Amino acid sequence: MTASDQEIISNLSNIRKAIPPHVTLVAVSKTHAAEAVEVAYQAGQRVFGENKVQEMEVKFTILPKDIEWHLIGHLQSNKVKYIAPFVTLIHGVDSEKLLEEIQKRAATNNRVIDVLLQIHIGEEESKFGFDEVELNEFIASKRWTNFQNVKIRGLMGMASFTENKTQVRNEFRSLKMTFENAKPLMGSSFDILSMGMSGDYQLAIEEGSTMVRIGSSIFGAREYH
Ligand SMILES: *Cc1c(COP(=O)(O)O)cnc(C)c1O
Repeated sequence: MTASDQEIISNLSNIRKAIPPHVTLVAVSKTHAAEAVEVAYQAGQRVFGENKVQEMEVKFTILPKDIEWHLIGHLQSNKVKYIAPFVTLIHGVDSEKLLEEIQKRAATNNRVIDVLLQIHIGEEESKFGFDEVELNEFIASKRWTNFQNVKIRGLMGMASFTENKTQVRNEFRSLKMTFENAKPLMGSSFDILSMGMSGDYQLAIEEGSTMVRIGSSIFGAREYH
């Protein structure tokens, strides 16, 4: 159930106190009503994350236009066109094919769209994300310099869903190392490391995260219908 307005406000305030100023808070509002986003907005929050294209479009349409919308989940190529006019940051770019589509739609809209490359760090056999070898090959190839309407701003990853904190910490640490190795090759606008969610954001920040994606600790548990 979505938290009450008072709870949303106090959750936000507590999380802001818990994260250092160099870390950007993405309030993950997926499945929660636009009214809940409005409450967080009134409390000063401007950056929101959604994982479904259609839900993000609806919220973009009805909510204030100074909100920065981040697409945080898996994105299908055929849906890029719907968010290209307004999205601020796409976190989950997991293939060159998707980059090509973002390039095309960004150009159509006369925009440069910021993206993060999703890196597969957890142990789960996820279909999504570059692995270390693929990433290094892609960076070295310089093919990314062809995408003039796409700015690769950094990396994003999700740790394994486990109680084992040492494992989670090691996964974050390894992503941070990958990020630092890529930095000198990618230029000065490569400056975002998106890692950490409600259950593990403190660990992620200790390991060098610059952007955390927090949903349930702000808005309450999600209900899926
Ligand atoms: C849903 C989601 C989050 C937020 O998860 P919480 O555990 O509710 O904080 C963060 N990142 C991604 C990619 C998500 O899909």
